[in-house]
Amino acid sequence: MIAAGSTIGIIGGGQLGRMLAMAAARLGYRTVILEPQADCPAAQVATEQIVAAYDNPEALERLAEISDVITYEFENVPVDAAETLNETKPVFPPPEALKVSQDRVTEKRFLNNAGIQTAQWRIVENEGDLEAALLAFEGKGILKTRRFGYDGKGQVKFSGAKGENAKAGFAAVGSVPSILEGLVDFTREISVIAARDEAGDIRIYDIAENVHKDGILATSTVPVSVSSTIAGLAADSARKLLEALNYVGVLGMEFFVLANGTLLANEFAPRVHNSGHWTEAACAVSQFEQHIRAVAGLPLGDARRHSDCVMENLIGDDVEKLPAILAESGAVVHLYGKAEARPGRKMGHVTRITKRL
Ligand code: AMP
Repeated sequence: MIAAGSTIGIIGGGQLGRMLAMAAARLGYRTVILEPQADCPAAQVATEQIVAAYDNPEALERLAEISDVITYEFENVPVDAAETLNETKPVFPPPEALKVSQDRVTEKRFLNNAGIQTAQWRIVENEGDLEAALLAFEGKGILKTRRFGYDGKGQVKFSGAKGENAKAGFAAVGSVPSILEGLVDFTREISVIAARDEAGDIRIYDIAENVHKDGILATSTVPVSVSSTIAGLAADSARKLLEALNYVGVLGMEFFVLANGTLLANEFAPRVHNSGHWTEAACAVSQFEQHIRAVAGLPLGDARRHSDCVMENLIGDDVEKLPAILAESGAVVHLYGKAEARPGRKMGHVTRITKRL
């Protein structure tokens, strides 16, 4: 356990880092943010920022020197950097989790090997692979780049319609190593936020139903009206994944629910997750505090929900609705300190408490 007053290093300076730094401060910790963009959302509420690239050797040395433990807020942290840091100071979640999640193929393989069902998938290295895979999937699928895809970017959908062609599809994702996933005809998208500490204690939050718009999360609603079997399966999958990764910290795992009651894992993020922001308003211990507890070696906290709620992301000029939102009762607002409201940019979120339990 690191003592109050110790320093937690956070790689990445976005809103997730900001909310982690705020949770750390509440538990008496200092935070240092490694992020190339000065005055980033996280640095505004942290003790210190190292303004440098995530793989800058001097910056990493300095981060290791100041920090007692190091964590991260995005999954594209260079694995080499995390491994190097881990030689000097503990890095949680383990760098292995980054390695697995950064490539959709290793991720799917890891999930399947851990006994977690996903959509069918094929590796696509070239147009020929894509043609063969589409043939196997009856022309339907989603082509995704193996690496660096987020919020639906780097994806092409094949719906089985005439005229869709592998050559154009592969070019559209940039002709880079990709994966074709079977097109899942889901009825809902749900996610689970789960935490594990070094001793193996696990806490799992209630599942949320997520609605995406233009590939970006729009709302997360809790509770979800799915069967207890589905809810149990989602929690079991998260538990299996945490254990298989020997994980420490919070992770977010997304799933598709099919009409026939099948649950398929889509992907996981080795970090706090946008679909878990509701925990801040509707649980005694939020995902952010839970993560800080796990990485700092404190006992995990109560993950039970005390209210039903709906979290809505405030994207781009949604922030103009703020005066009206602030006037609502039961609305918990969180803004990220970003100066400019560009289209598609997450500016903040609001969690509306719909019922107290
Ligand atoms: P991802 O980047 O994998 O999270 O995908 C972004 C969104 O695209 C998901 O939230 C789904 O709405 C949709 N999507 C992704 N993969 C599939 C799939 N295999 N079948 C159907 N829809 C998908």
